[in-house]
Amino acid sequence: MRAGVFDLFKPGVGPSSSHTMGPMTAAGRWLGRLQAQGVLARVARVRTTLFASLALTGRGHATDRAVILGLAGFAPASLDPDAADAALAEVRASGRLRLGGGPDIAFDEARDIAWEGRTRLPQHPNALRFEAFDAEGRSLDGRLYYSVGGGFVRDEAQMGQNAAAEPCPAMPFPFETGDELLRIAEAAGLTIAEVVLANETARRSREEVEAGLDGIVEAMFACIQRGVRTEGVLPGGLKVQRRAAQVHARLICDADRRMADPLAALDWVNLWALAVNEENAAGGRVVTAPTNGAAGLLPAVLRFYDRFHKGTAQGRRTFLLTAAAIGALYKSRGSLSGAEVGCQGEVGVACSMAAAGLAAALGATNAQIENAAEIAMEHNLGLTCDPIGGLVQIPCIERNAMGAVKAIDAARLALLGDGQHSVSLDKVIATMKRTGEDMSERYKETSLGGLAVNLVEC
Ligand code: SF4
Repeated sequence: MRAGVFDLFKPGVGPSSSHTMGPMTAAGRWLGRLQAQGVLARVARVRTTLFASLALTGRGHATDRAVILGLAGFAPASLDPDAADAALAEVRASGRLRLGGGPDIAFDEARDIAWEGRTRLPQHPNALRFEAFDAEGRSLDGRLYYSVGGGFVRDEAQMGQNAAAEPCPAMPFPFETGDELLRIAEAAGLTIAEVVLANETARRSREEVEAGLDGIVEAMFACIQRGVRTEGVLPGGLKVQRRAAQVHARLICDADRRMADPLAALDWVNLWALAVNEENAAGGRVVTAPTNGAAGLLPAVLRFYDRFHKGTAQGRRTFLLTAAAIGALYKSRGSLSGAEVGCQGEVGVACSMAAAGLAAALGATNAQIENAAEIAMEHNLGLTCDPIGGLVQIPCIERNAMGAVKAIDAARLALLGDGQHSVSLDKVIATMKRTGEDMSERYKETSLGGLAVNLVEC
């Protein structure tokens, strides 16, 4: 398990973990490199080149904004949206940028950000290169970075390494596959959540882990609340109306009659997923779960557990720890990147994580949890990524709601069985990766296929 709970669930800003948070993080990491080399103060100009998916959907995903803010020293986890908007406006108005808050350089966005949508680098479709020049135009440094999904970033040296050969943080129960996870848990007499908790407490105290988990729940539920309260039109030009506030108003009106509907809970699940993804689409603060595009699915299912199963703090922690175990398997054996494997890598993975988390919180055995995760992904295989206008709005917002309902169904189906099933989670993860590799690039976050080109203009 190379990705920890707090790597998979981390605070950030919308609309995209791979196209917004990743590039911003990469810019910060490159500035650190310039600083370490002692050349930062000599930089007079920087150029950023965005390749393939980052270029093709980068305008809709605010990648240019993320790059500028990253170069100006902003980071996703600590970003204040108002301060960021003001800084961006200042750069654009003045044509000057304080690199990492240090040297004040000329910055012309049209010249200094290049969009190379036709060039796909072999290692990954989400690549960007930073280059620095001195006042005489001599190159000081150039570095390629890859935004590999979920806000994770690797540089060109790390991309050349076999992930399995990378050092793994010291932990009592390292696992790479679902089968290993089940074997380890059985041998130790632990639940999947307890295995992950033991690994996490090798890095920090139990109190810190539990406080961190409670903080994630709080941030997810706060995001739901913001989404439910906010009306208006989403940015980007599609004129997509925010719906969560109106849906909420309808649900609380005549609530008793509505709750008599046997499927009333699904209306609430839909609402919670819409609320988070509208916040994300508006560039608000969300928690990656495991990505921004899929940020609403897991909180909606967690809220469902809380509200309709009288959730407890311990149950919510079990949910997140279990979901993180499943997310880590996809991170190391599959993909969390829509640009690499389509939406099965985002909403599909979130669905699988949420199904496992809910099953665990409801008392499932480890085998039932693995089954729930497997069912959820099995029925997301081949899910394409075709965001209209490159914006994380259509189909992304509703897709989270549909995925949340599917996750609940997968958990319930698994709980009706004894955990015995034909297709293992490992097999379905391998199938997801292979299917993603076989998919046309048109359906992998390029906005060159699917809904992105078949929307009839009225
Ligand atoms: S379609 Fe799925 S993978 Fe693509 S941007 Fe939307 S949520 Fe992300």
